[in-house]
Amino acid sequence: MSSQKAAEDKEHTNPPVAKSLSQLIKKYPDTFRVRGPRIKQVALTFDDVPDPRFTPQVLDILKEEGVKATFFVVGSRAKKHPDLLARIKREGHAIGNHSYNHPQFNKLNLVEFRDQIERTNKIIKSITGQEPRLIRPPYGEINEEQLRWARKNNYKIVNWNVDSLDWKGLTKDQVKQNILSATGPGAIILQHAGGGVGSDLSGTTEALPEVISELRKKGYSFVTLPDMLSVPEDR
Ligand SMILES: [Zn+2]
Repeated sequence: MSSQKAAEDKEHTNPPVAKSLSQLIKKYPDTFRVRGPRIKQVALTFDDVPDPRFTPQVLDILKEEGVKATFFVVGSRAKKHPDLLARIKREGHAIGNHSYNHPQFNKLNLVEFRDQIERTNKIIKSITGQEPRLIRPPYGEINEEQLRWARKNNYKIVNWNVDSLDWKGLTKDQVKQNILSATGPGAIILQHAGGGVGSDLSGTTEALPEVISELRKKGYSFVTLPDMLSVPEDR
């Protein structure tokens, strides 16, 4: 038996020790990304789409500004609003998988986890013709078993290193401050273009044009995650 085989068997027989997200990012640097190369580029990312209350406004602003972003799609929402997902695609943005109904992956077994990913990819494919390779776990949480499955099946997990905290219903100035104070070369910026009942993302939409112009003034360009990370968008 080769030593590699022995190591693999050992990993299978010993229950994995729970690892923190930062340990997992270190252990699987190719599969689990939180930022891009340190060049003057940033990626704007918008989770929890499509949502008719907020997604069209975000798309209008991005179109006006000539910026391409990455949208992480919740499968159950895409099923309800296929036209809106089709618009995201048509306008040249990148699309990733954000689960079927936004559970905490840590509470799911592997079969349930796979079902969340595969159901959503199927829905996205039926609407856009493409099956995303990028996954953003709800709340950024994933465990090692799930990560290994993702790696084996040719997915990339992409979290962020700049959090706007916009889902809290912050004001425009707070959202802007959270983003601009933390953004550096290669930043992956988390925002939302969809929300739960009663959520208010007016801070996000009001801040967005100013965030874009401030970052442009500082010399940043805007790229999608597949471009930033040099991975194909499609599986
Ligand atoms: Zn989310």
